[in-house]
Amino acid sequence: MTARILDGAKIRDAMFGELKDEVAILSSAGIRPGLAAVLVGSDPASQLYVKSKIAACDQLGMASGLITPLASATTAEMLAIVEDLNRDNDTDGILIQLPLPAQVDTKRVLEAVDPAKDVDGFHPVNLGRLVSGRPGLVACTPAGCMEILRRNEIRIEGANAVVLGRSDIVGKPMALLLMHANATVTICHSKTKNLADVVRGADIVVAAMGRAGFVEADWIRPGAAVIDVGTNRLTEAAEAERLFRNFPSRLEKFRSKGNALAGDVHPDAVNVAGAMTPVPGGVGPMTITMLMSNTVKAARMRRAKAIPRTISAGGPSSGSGGR
Ligand code: NAP
Repeated sequence: MTARILDGAKIRDAMFGELKDEVAILSSAGIRPGLAAVLVGSDPASQLYVKSKIAACDQLGMASGLITPLASATTAEMLAIVEDLNRDNDTDGILIQLPLPAQVDTKRVLEAVDPAKDVDGFHPVNLGRLVSGRPGLVACTPAGCMEILRRNEIRIEGANAVVLGRSDIVGKPMALLLMHANATVTICHSKTKNLADVVRGADIVVAAMGRAGFVEADWIRPGAAVIDVGTNRLTEAAEAERLFRNFPSRLEKFRSKGNALAGDVHPDAVNVAGAMTPVPGGVGPMTITMLMSNTVKAARMRRAKAIPRTISAGGPSSGSGGR
């Protein structure tokens, strides 16, 4: 059996279409959702991430702004920037690109963001809302995993779900979302005993450990749904051969490029699982999609409670509209 591939790029495209319509509706009412990104210093990877987030805003007709403090920025300077953005009515979402330089108190800066504009879902107020099952802004990667499950009609209610990893940004919120969707959830971490056996009992596995190909194919219950959050860059040939031994084209690509991306689940699991996200192309595209979705949601919650979500007769059908 080969698993159904849970294609994140396809869901991203569908959701971008939906979001574009919603942005057009809000914009025609004078509320153009806007994201402000704060990028400190000149780390190339961070620059690339922020660039793609701003390009996504452009694609959806949303407003965007980029603030680029020097790498020497202090905590006080960062707090002043966040305060300005908190006060700016046109800014619906505030994105602090991480990591911040060592001299900046990251926690303090993230906690200074207005929870109503916390589109990364990192603020303790939003985490508290998630714990108690109240509406709020949810961390993008786990929210994206839920969209993958729901849009592929994978049954969550009553399922045994195993989440591998307990980070604040992926594992913990993921476990809470699955629990609120009525799964029976087990959270695993580096001290969990008999990990393979725990995973074998799962109808849904969410792997978010940052360990390439750690979850072996024979840990997966036949027919289970596998959501692989892990994004690991392989550079060692022996590691690539271990993971891609049954995928000659991936091995070939690794050899020509000298590196490749791999998830936390061994690719051979595709022959056991019922459904599985690829890496790349599974969870990855969903993270930016949910950031856009959270920004539109934040605009709606803060500024546009009364505007209907669907397009009414005579209303705009597409385009950015607005200011
Ligand atoms: P993290 O903060 O490093 O957390 C890793 C978690 O995995 C920890 O809870 C750790 O347990 C657990 N773990 C590590 N080794 C383990 C082992 N051998 N057995 C069992 N549990 C183990 O990582 P993260 O930020 O959550 O990210 C996890 C992965 O997801 C990374 O590969 C990251 O690149 C990827 N990611 C992808 C996206 C995306 O958009 N696709 C977004 C975010 C993250 P302890 O708590 O006991 O240390």
